[in-house]
Amino acid sequence: MKAEIIAVGTEILTGQIVNTNAQFLSEKLASLGIDVYFQTAVGDNENRLLSVLEIAKERSDLIILTGGLGPTEDDLTKQTLAKFVGRGLSFDPEAVEKLDRFFASRPDYARTPNNERQAQLVTGSTPLPNATGLAVGGLLEVDGATYVVLPGPPSELKPMVNNELVPLLSTGQKLYSRVLRFFGIGESQLVTILAQMIDQQSDPTIAPYAKTGEVTLRLSTKALSQAEADAKFEAVEKSILAYQTFEGQPLSKIFYGYGDDNSLAQVAFDLLKSQAKTISAAESLTAGLFQATLADFAGASSIFSGGFVTYSMEEKSRMLDIPLGELEKHGVVSAFTAGKMAEQARKLTQSDLAVSLTGVAGPDSLEGHPAGTVFIGLASESGTEIIEANIAGRSRRDVRKIAVMHAFNLVRKTLLKN
Ligand code: ATP
Repeated sequence: MKAEIIAVGTEILTGQIVNTNAQFLSEKLASLGIDVYFQTAVGDNENRLLSVLEIAKERSDLIILTGGLGPTEDDLTKQTLAKFVGRGLSFDPEAVEKLDRFFASRPDYARTPNNERQAQLVTGSTPLPNATGLAVGGLLEVDGATYVVLPGPPSELKPMVNNELVPLLSTGQKLYSRVLRFFGIGESQLVTILAQMIDQQSDPTIAPYAKTGEVTLRLSTKALSQAEADAKFEAVEKSILAYQTFEGQPLSKIFYGYGDDNSLAQVAFDLLKSQAKTISAAESLTAGLFQATLADFAGASSIFSGGFVTYSMEEKSRMLDIPLGELEKHGVVSAFTAGKMAEQARKLTQSDLAVSLTGVAGPDSLEGHPAGTVFIGLASESGTEIIEANIAGRSRRDVRKIAVMHAFNLVRKTLLKN
């Protein structure tokens, strides 16, 4: 089913209000598995609304109009729809009763003919009662197209959609999605590797999305239950993870987790907690970003008691007790320094693991190393591992952020070996 949302109201076109109804409806329809292909906004003008309806009828099966059901002269949605489908307007008895009750309890309010219009619907419509207002909504089927009219105020529209419209539109199918997260591959490389699959795959669909330093793939499908959706996701995920990167390793090696918000830091943090391991860090170019990221998680104190920010060579030597001569000899941007920083941080804090980050945030080079050269160490009871990351062509901020992601990835991989 192809759906289209038409927001009626000059205030939207003049920028006085934001079309949040369209956003709400789009999200709601997507969750019901109904595809929204168009959103339109049109002023309170009969001719322009008629022309929008003309276009909508040609391209959509479900046409949802919001706004313009009120008692004022410029509220013309129902009247225009009636004209468009060649029908009249009829009173909804329940809505009339509601008007009667409303005015009976407010004897000082004048009841005008315009108020009566709020209780009218295009003849043949299924009424959608308004729990929080006076204007009744409606659903009407004409010549294979379904028209829905809803009030403009979100406080009236939302309960009407949730309580009245959704049950009428529900097919039982819902939209499900599964997000696969990858670190250590660029979006263009991933898309190239999966090009044929992305093109040919229609259920579930596969949509890549690049974020700083990582890529996600969103698999989406319509199904009657989570179990039915999961069965479809399993099969596609299995084929995706078996593809090889340009370096010849399967994508499963750089796949690190599921979900929209499940960051590398979160995955590493969860592993530290579940394995009851403590961690520390000595940070140069990231100046505490790794530790600050850890402390963002509630319950961080159970795995993290403290660490070091050692920006200058002198502080690396003084705070971490590394002979200055050795640092001068190897340079601060070196595997040696990364290894020593991690080992000393682990020793001095008596943690199970310690991470080190030293390198060039940029934009200038340092010790002959280009911006983005970062050495990351991880000291643990099984020894010290050091990786070199070349985060080229990135801003200073991104180099620091991606360096921290590498560090969390190293922690993750190390803990997974346990
Ligand atoms: P009323 O019965 O209050 O006259 P109505 O159905 O005629 O409601 P409008 O007059 O078009 O609706 O809009 C009333 C108010 O509803 C607007 O001033 C605005 O605050 C809100 N509104 C209308 N359309 C939208 C929209 N598309 N998105 C968000 N808010 C909206």
